[in-house]
Amino acid sequence: MSTQVERIVIAGAGQAGATVAFGLRKAGFDGSITVIGDEAHLPYERPQLSKEMLNLEKGEHRPIRSQEDYEAQSIQLELGARLTRVDADGRQVLLDDGRKVGYDRLVIATGVKPRQLSGPFDHTGRACYLRTVEDARRLREDIRSGRPLAIIGGGVIGLEVAAAARAAGCHVTVIEAGERLMSRSVDEIASAYLDRAHRRDGVDIRYGASAVELGEDGQLKLSDGSVVPAQSLLVGIGVTPNIQGFEHLGITDTAGVLVDGHGRSPIGSIYATGDIASQPHGQGHGRIETWANAQDHALNLVKNLLGEDVPYQSPIWFWSDQGKINLQVVGNANQGKRFIRGDEHGDAFVVFRLDDERRVTGCTTINSPRDMAVARRWVKQGVRVDPQRLVDPVTPLRDCAI
Ligand code: FAD
Ligand code: NDP
Repeated sequence: MSTQVERIVIAGAGQAGATVAFGLRKAGFDGSITVIGDEAHLPYERPQLSKEMLNLEKGEHRPIRSQEDYEAQSIQLELGARLTRVDADGRQVLLDDGRKVGYDRLVIATGVKPRQLSGPFDHTGRACYLRTVEDARRLREDIRSGRPLAIIGGGVIGLEVAAAARAAGCHVTVIEAGERLMSRSVDEIASAYLDRAHRRDGVDIRYGASAVELGEDGQLKLSDGSVVPAQSLLVGIGVTPNIQGFEHLGITDTAGVLVDGHGRSPIGSIYATGDIASQPHGQGHGRIETWANAQDHALNLVKNLLGEDVPYQSPIWFWSDQGKINLQVVGNANQGKRFIRGDEHGDAFVVFRLDDERRVTGCTTINSPRDMAVARRWVKQGVRVDPQRLVDPVTPLRDCAI
């Protein structure tokens, strides 16, 4: 690394920010590392918020690393501190308490925040969102109360919470504006399975509807004229990027902070990683809102910060646990020719997507995590397969590659 890089500031004390900080130390960087985060907690991983933390039998959240680890690695943590502006010419960031922190390299890892439901639909203040430990604690109390829960949005948050609330015995209604569940990340076959599985579990699902008004009596009026019980209400309708403080730099687009394949923004001293990074990927350019990206992109960024020249090349992968359902996706689940392995009307099957040359470009596994291990390797390596063997569940997957 060039000798002038002595101070690295990381904006955002979440999963990606913490991963960069410890990754830098592991790689031998001995300059100063400052991590600035507006939450009061040590950095933590968010998947536990909609899973373990909503399981009434389980406990509180766990941080990624302990306070002692930060001290031992000489990583300066500024928690409860919000970055309000970047002075790119002066290479310093401004905090909400008036402090200025100088940097040689700035890593933006500020993530995203829940998209707010517009309009005056909630006069009760009862609606909650799910992004932070505090949100999860509040939602857990709502679930513990056993009151009927309405969930606006049939995406990953909506469905993971629906399963947790049903496990606790709540009446649950999911209100989805579109025509199918999780349409952003899975295809019609997987959406149909989710619909079946959640209905079987007792979830009431409404499509093509949105919230109009939440009454004091706990009744939620929908745009189709119907009314559903909503003594508790969760909104999970997607996210928007935390780009306040960076917009004047000219390095943002509607998705987040623009970066190239190395995580570099158009300003050479500024990088971005995790959910906030609007990055190149197989299907174009945009955010990748997954645990794996926050981990792997951040670790790859460490190499580039330290002077290596390593493009990030990892297919998108995520999992979602919804009660007993384990769903995983790699690559693009919505494009390419579809081949189904197993019974799509059953409870365990795999949907493969192949390009014209029979390369595996995407895969969704429903309750088949072992097959996902193979699919991830295939998508990463662009492996070609024999479709006839693929759809025969008796033929081992390893014998399907050609
Ligand atoms: P974050 O973890 O959000 O960290 C960003 C931090 O920056 C936050 O603490 C934020 O408050 C802070 N910040 C923002 N602006 C400022 C500022 N101006 N100054 C200082 N600090 C700031 N992915 C999966 O693949 N599988 C799952 O099962 C899964 N489950 C999830 C469940 C939930 C409830 C949620 C919310 C997400 C889940 N994800 C899952 C997605 C995954 O957690 C995210 O992709 C990951 O957290 C992104 O990490 P990040 O570091 O980019 O952002
Ligand atoms: P998603 O984008 O996954 O889902 C939002 C859903 O809400 C979409 O189906 C969307 O439909 C629908 N919707 C949008 N507006 C309305 C409306 N006004 N009324 C009713 N429905 C509406 O976002 P989530 O909020 O579920 O997730 C937020 C973040 O949390 C993401 O970053 C996600 O990656 C992360 N997360 C990831 C998990 C995982 O990977 N397992 C688990 C939990 C959270 P349409 O698409 O038609 O607009």
